[in-house]
Amino acid sequence: MRFALGLFLSAALFGQQYDLLLQGGTVIDARNKISGRRDVAIADGKVAAVEPNIPASKAKKTVDVGGLYVTPGLIDIHVHVFAGEGPEYMGTSSVFPDDHSFRSGVTTMVDAGSSGWKSFPDFKRRTIDRSRTRVLSLLNIIGTGMGGNNSTEQNTADMDPESTAKRVKEFPANIVGIKTAHYTAPNWIAVEKALEAANLANVPLMVDFGQFSKERPFEELVTKRLRPGDIYTHTYLPSVPMLENGKVRPYLFEARKRGVLFDVGHGSGSFWFRIAVPAIEQGFLPDTISTDIHTSSIMLPRANMITTMSKLLNAGMTLEQVIERSTVNAARAIRRPELGKLTEGAEADIALIEVRRGKFGYVDSGHGKLIGARKLRCVMTIRAGQIVWDSEGLAAAEWKAAGAYSNFK
Ligand SMILES: [Zn+2]
Repeated sequence: MRFALGLFLSAALFGQQYDLLLQGGTVIDARNKISGRRDVAIADGKVAAVEPNIPASKAKKTVDVGGLYVTPGLIDIHVHVFAGEGPEYMGTSSVFPDDHSFRSGVTTMVDAGSSGWKSFPDFKRRTIDRSRTRVLSLLNIIGTGMGGNNSTEQNTADMDPESTAKRVKEFPANIVGIKTAHYTAPNWIAVEKALEAANLANVPLMVDFGQFSKERPFEELVTKRLRPGDIYTHTYLPSVPMLENGKVRPYLFEARKRGVLFDVGHGSGSFWFRIAVPAIEQGFLPDTISTDIHTSSIMLPRANMITTMSKLLNAGMTLEQVIERSTVNAARAIRRPELGKLTEGAEADIALIEVRRGKFGYVDSGHGKLIGARKLRCVMTIRAGQIVWDSEGLAAAEWKAAGAYSNFK
C-alpha cells in the first residue's frame, strides 16, 4: 500500500512540469498572431506553453483567468524615473518605477532622457538596479540629462555625441537609444548632435520637439531629418502641425511611409482628444502608446499606461490595436525583439486585463473630457514568472480555507 502511494505521488509530482498555469483567458499576442482562447503555462520564469487546453494537473498552481485578456507584459517607452539629486536633474518630477508600472500591467519602462552620459551611472545605481520593473534608457544628448527647467536642454556645449555613444556601448543591456527634448533655438543643432550619437552607437533616436519655427519646421524633421526607425513622441500635441482644416496633413503619412515612428507620449501637456480623435478617425494611429509619466502627468490627466490605453480605445482604436502598440510595436521600436510576446522560452512578463463596460470619463492634457463605454483595468501582472500585482487576489487562497498561512515562503 505504501509502495503504491509512493508511486502515485511521484507520478503526480513528475506531471507538474509548470510552476503556474493561467487557464481560460483570451490571449492577445500580435507577434505570434494570436487573438483567442488559450491557456498559458509558466516554468522557471519563462513562458513554457501557449495552447488551447493545458490540464491543471500539469501545474503546481492554476489560476482561473476566464473573462480576462492575457497579453505580453506592457512596454512603456516614454517615462521619467530618475529621481537624482541636485537641480541639474529631473529629480523633482520623476516617479519610482515599481509604484506605477505593475498596477498598469507594465513590465518594461524606458526612461526618456532623464539621464545623459554623465548622470547615467547614478541613474543605474539609484533606479535601474533597485527596480523589479525592467528599466531601460534613452540617453539624453545633454551630458547631465534632462534638467528641472528648460534651460538645461538648450546647452549645446553639453552635447557630446562621442561620449554619449560610448556610454550606450558600455551599457548595451540598459541603454536602447538617444533622446533630445525641449530644444527651442531656431536651428537643428540638438537634432544633429543627437543623430550623430545615434549613428555612432547604431541605436534609434527619440525626439520630443514641442516648439516649432519657420527655420526648424516639423515637416522637415519627420520627412528629412529623422531616419527610418527614429521615434517622434508627443504625436497628439496641439502645437504639432498635424491637422489642417481638420484633416491630417499628407506629409505625416509620407513620414510614416519612410519608417518614422509616431509615439503617444501622453505627458501633462501632450495628449489632446481634439487632435487624437480626428487623427485616429482618418487612420493616423500611433505606432506606440506611452505615458511620459512623471509627477504631474500622473495626477490630473491620469497618464498611467492602462488609462492611456483606455483613452485610445475610446478614441477609436480596437483592443487588438491598443495591445499591439503597447507590446510588440514598442519592443520593435526599442529593438528588443525578445520582449512583447508570449513565445515559448520568452521571459514570462504577462499582463491580465479586464475590459469593463459602462460609462467612464477620461481627461486629456488640456483637461477636456471624453466619455467612453469601455475601461481597461489591470487585474494581474507577472514579471519573470512572479506575480507582482494581483489586485483582487485571483491567485490567492480564501483565508478561511488557507490554514495558518504566511507571507514568508
Ligand atoms: Zn518626457
